[in-house]
Amino acid sequence: RGGKAEREIPFAQPGSLTRVYCVASGKGGVGKSSVTVNLAAAMAADGLKVGVVDADIYGHSVPRMLGADGQPTQVEDMIMPPSAQGVKVISIGMFTPGNAPVVWRGPMLHRALQQFLADVYWGDLDVLLLDLPPGTGDIAISVAQLIPNAEILVVTTPQQAAAEVAERAGSIAVQTHQKIAGVIENMSGMPCPHCDEMVDVFGTGGGKQVAEGLTRTTGADVPVLGGIPIDLRLREGGDAGKPVVLSDPDSPAGAALRDVAGKL
Ligand code: ADP
Repeated sequence: RGGKAEREIPFAQPGSLTRVYCVASGKGGVGKSSVTVNLAAAMAADGLKVGVVDADIYGHSVPRMLGADGQPTQVEDMIMPPSAQGVKVISIGMFTPGNAPVVWRGPMLHRALQQFLADVYWGDLDVLLLDLPPGTGDIAISVAQLIPNAEILVVTTPQQAAAEVAERAGSIAVQTHQKIAGVIENMSGMPCPHCDEMVDVFGTGGGKQVAEGLTRTTGADVPVLGGIPIDLRLREGGDAGKPVVLSDPDSPAGAALRDVAGKL
């Protein structure tokens, strides 16, 4: 926006009514993006106005999981985000040709994020979710600088090794002075298809471990918001662009995700 002053980020203004959540994880592949799109779709189905920023630079997968195959358009000097399942979504993948990798570094990423937040026409949102890259990178720091009141949601699996990394990712909140809204344990066991008994594929206790650790490091009470079981329908819903909270809301994962969405 050559020469013009940067537009202000509406969510960072005093009195903004939009709740902003950064969805973070330690490792990749723990279901952070799946959780993000399902929470967004569940809240939109409840009548809230919801937006998602896919800031997972290297693993952007939100548009596909939401079934958002539209492209952003430009109206005057604003970017109109496509929407799907009632959720407005913008992704770094929409601005990179084909399946090209994003090779931007810190300052460019910060600038892109600033634009996603300020130059995208979001309208009056009740909730904005940001799907962060795994780990503790530049993006998490940028978000904290751009929207200081954004809260952090930590996604982990029950596995101890994953929980340790997730706790490290969450403890960034101490430096950025952000609030941690809670911990979501994903892949919390799988109901046996033959006898319905729960099989603890990734062990147990990771969510509780992260919440207790972050309660200690931040000095504020960090709750476990829920556990999402391993559920074939969740993976299928993501692949088909129809989040399980909509395609099969009463499935074990669908119900658990709707329950968590109701707490945010
Ligand atoms: P991340 O964003 O942490 O890298 P994804 O959300 O992309 O993780 O999930 C990784 C893979 O695991 C995806 O194929 C997704 O469909 C699958 N998955 C995630 N959570 C579950 C679950 N609870 N049950 C079944 N499959 C899941």
